[in-house]
Amino acid sequence: MSSCTVCPRTAPDGQHLCQLHAGELRGWLAEIPAQALLLAEEFVARSARPAQGRVGGTGQAVAPVPVDLRVLALLGPGRYDPQGADDDGQPPIAATLGAWAGHIAYHHPAAHRDPHGIARLQPCEQASPRHGESITGWCAWLTAYLPFALTLPLAAGLHDALDTLVRRLRHLTHSQPQQHPRAAPCPACDLCTLVRTDGRWYVHCLTCGHQLTPDQYDQHAARVLKTRTAIHERTHPMTERVPVRVLLLFGDEAEIVADVPAEERAEPVRYPAADIAAATGVPVDQLAGQRLTAEVGADDQLSDWRVA
Ligand SMILES: [Zn+2]
Ligand SMILES: [Zn+2]
Repeated sequence: MSSCTVCPRTAPDGQHLCQLHAGELRGWLAEIPAQALLLAEEFVARSARPAQGRVGGTGQAVAPVPVDLRVLALLGPGRYDPQGADDDGQPPIAATLGAWAGHIAYHHPAAHRDPHGIARLQPCEQASPRHGESITGWCAWLTAYLPFALTLPLAAGLHDALDTLVRRLRHLTHSQPQQHPRAAPCPACDLCTLVRTDGRWYVHCLTCGHQLTPDQYDQHAARVLKTRTAIHERTHPMTERVPVRVLLLFGDEAEIVADVPAEERAEPVRYPAADIAAATGVPVDQLAGQRLTAEVGADDQLSDWRVA
């Protein structure tokens, strides 16, 4: 067991970042190309487009939006030295990513044969991304080499650099990935802090950093639901479940009758259709005629609707 260099959590064996921070890095590498594209559309494309005036008309031409030079510099080529500070502290994105890739590549052993046919192991001289030395190309390279980068002490520096870069991009584009809370508690720490974040494949825990693939999460959630239902049934043995049927829909309400032959039925009772739809997962417009079961409470009120 080693510990994360960014936070007090434990990191997987031989790695320098915990799952939460490693996942964050992976998420940023997926986000950066999209943010750069937004930036280009917002600040560069708009100003480069010719002003739209009617040909020969008297319509007022819209003044072009001036290009923000800082944005151009950020998107453009340039140099970045991860060791020394840049003059304005805002190195171009591609140069920053490329410099980190080069830094990681230097630690990556490259196997080759020398002129005498003897196998040699030496550091890679440079990183060459398959998709070109663009922002997208470098992000793809860094994602591919991330498992290796996590084993190097430089992982903390990489996390720091990408954190700064992503913050700057989000600030300029006013756009950031949304988090969607998941209902089931985390299987590792039992707290209800699992979320899915836009652009991130794993469902992850905000408390302990535990990660699940979407499939693993679905299976986990189904197990939790099953356990809860079993506990509920054990602790609420007195309630009675009865078969019922949705007769008709009246506006927002569903008319419910006992699912018995028509001549034995009492007057229908109305319940909010949206509640039944939410509990059963059957859309409101398909509720009419649906056979359900429900629990009869002490006050004869029906609840806990389920599809029969
Ligand atoms: Zn951490
Ligand atoms: Zn957790």
